[in-house]
Amino acid sequence: MPIFSHLHQLFHVDTCHAYLHRLRWKDRPLQCPRCQSDDVGPWGTYHYRPRCKRYRCRDCKRTFNDLTGTLFDRSKRSLAHWMLATFLLCLSCSSRRIARELGVHIRTGYRWCWWLRNAALSYEMHRQLDGTVEADDLYHTAGNKGQAKQGGKKSLGRRARGRRKKREPGRGHYDKDRPAIIAWVSRQRGVVVQATRDFTVRTVQKAADLAVQAGSRLYTDSAGSYRALQGYVHDFVNHTKKEYARGDVHENRAECLFSLLKPYLRVFRGLSKTNLPGYLGFFQFLRNYRQLTAFEQAGLILYAALDPAISSRARKGEFVKCLDHFDLLQMQRN
Ligand SMILES: [Zn+2]
Repeated sequence: MPIFSHLHQLFHVDTCHAYLHRLRWKDRPLQCPRCQSDDVGPWGTYHYRPRCKRYRCRDCKRTFNDLTGTLFDRSKRSLAHWMLATFLLCLSCSSRRIARELGVHIRTGYRWCWWLRNAALSYEMHRQLDGTVEADDLYHTAGNKGQAKQGGKKSLGRRARGRRKKREPGRGHYDKDRPAIIAWVSRQRGVVVQATRDFTVRTVQKAADLAVQAGSRLYTDSAGSYRALQGYVHDFVNHTKKEYARGDVHENRAECLFSLLKPYLRVFRGLSKTNLPGYLGFFQFLRNYRQLTAFEQAGLILYAALDPAISSRARKGEFVKCLDHFDLLQMQRN
């Protein structure tokens, strides 16, 4: 195999370490990640990793380096692997593709993608739209892919869907492996994409309360769940009467967002319901920072991943759990 068969070989080790060093301490004070003490001093380097600067905390008497407590802590792969993986993730590559380009195992690729997606979601936790907001809904097939315990094949609990099988008529539902996706697009700035169990009035009201500031102007289609919304200045177009725009009233931006979301999700060749909110959240991140290049977006993700607080939550997948709106109805019943 030629030496440069993998792109990450072109990265220079010193440059990578210097870049991450700058990124980690850019806006954060140089302090001990264990006891948050500022009383730290340099403490040489590691013999097996000479470029990684080491520091010692004079309070807890322990040493740390630029990577302690971050997502890259104790990784056996080089930083170049991680940076390239983040870059490819922003170009919406699948985890298998990333694993192949980097020359790591697919399970490593999958774990990295999941952690990095979680780190990106930390930017999207409290996003609320205002101004003029368009909304639309979509139903996406999502089953139980990869959810078997201990891996391997599992009983689906249903007949295999088959390739391009015609779906059941009517609206989808979480229990029918076809959860709803609601997109909220502000004409001023920002988008919010949510996965919900169904499309009932209560679910949509709850989803709207999370995504859109009360009192905003809302343009939708004529679905009953939107018409029942309270707390917004609402107007709609009637698609059944072939009305798609009436002056300012239309939802073309929301529909356009779905035309971008569909090919984005197609890359992954099927999703599980459990992971759908994570993928949607990352798509939302990419859309909300779409004026940046993929390298700049990757820089944002790396910056978040270098925060010990964010990275420990990202490893546990807590950001996706926060964005998981499938239990909206359950929350209301309690
Ligand atoms: Zn300390």
